[in-house]
Amino acid sequence: MELTIIPTWKCQIKPACPYCDYLPAPDGSSVQMVRDKTLQIGEELTPDQWVGWLKTLPPSTINFTGGEPLMYKGFRELIRKLPDKHRWAITSNTLLDVINIEPLLCLTWTASFHPSQGEEKITRFIQNIHYLRASYFSMSISIVAYPDMLDKLPDYVQGFQKAGFKVGILPFYTRGWDWRESGKYEEIRKFLPLVEENPNLWWVENRDLKQCSAGNNYLTIQPDGDAWRCYSGFIQLEQSHRIGNILTGLKDVDTACSIPCLFPCDWLRSKKGEEAINAAAGG
Ligand code: SF4
Ligand code: SF4
Repeated sequence: MELTIIPTWKCQIKPACPYCDYLPAPDGSSVQMVRDKTLQIGEELTPDQWVGWLKTLPPSTINFTGGEPLMYKGFRELIRKLPDKHRWAITSNTLLDVINIEPLLCLTWTASFHPSQGEEKITRFIQNIHYLRASYFSMSISIVAYPDMLDKLPDYVQGFQKAGFKVGILPFYTRGWDWRESGKYEEIRKFLPLVEENPNLWWVENRDLKQCSAGNNYLTIQPDGDAWRCYSGFIQLEQSHRIGNILTGLKDVDTACSIPCLFPCDWLRSKKGEEAINAAAGG
């Protein structure tokens, strides 16, 4: 299975990064989502509760995200106790203490770089990514192409690449700001050759019915164990995509889905998607 686990919604960065999609309450008890809906979060699961459930699954890939996953107090214990049939990956702002995290089952550590945090934090970030690489983590750096920082983006990219790190650029999307229609289009396009052909469609109210296996082979799980079919369903807080709690049981999933999809599900069905698939197949 492919799992996205949010062990905590807490994040130590205050105020939140300007492009952050979520506004968690400081104690992690609720989070305000992109569409201004608020989700209440129950008590965070303990490492043993997570591990007890993970033991019941077939070999899976676990993507830890948040919030900031390292703000979850039991993170090191959870990694230490993780059944060795699983592999994990993490997206972390990589500004907290990263010592004594077991690298053996880790596939990738994505360090998200937030330069708006200032020089001191940038130094800490650089120390941490070097430390993690020396500790045998496979590292990559991700940077959000936020409009205000586009001028410095080439320097950041070149700096990390020169130091031997893989760098990925994430487009900045929000309602009311579409990079494809902004004055920054040409600047961003240089860094986002793929995104031009793969626009994020989830805010386009595409309600076409489609079939999708998410919920059977893919789950997004909240700090309190509440499970959703997929990340798209979760961030839109689509109740039809909420399928129970891992401690009390998950309901069977109907493969039909008619919500706008953050993943390529909608794009693949678009004309451009069809053309790209045909081109890749040599058609
Ligand atoms: S580090 Fe991540 S979770 Fe924290 S405020 Fe920034 S974007 Fe949001
Ligand atoms: S939103 Fe996308 S990933 Fe989620 S169930 Fe629907 S089609 Fe699948």
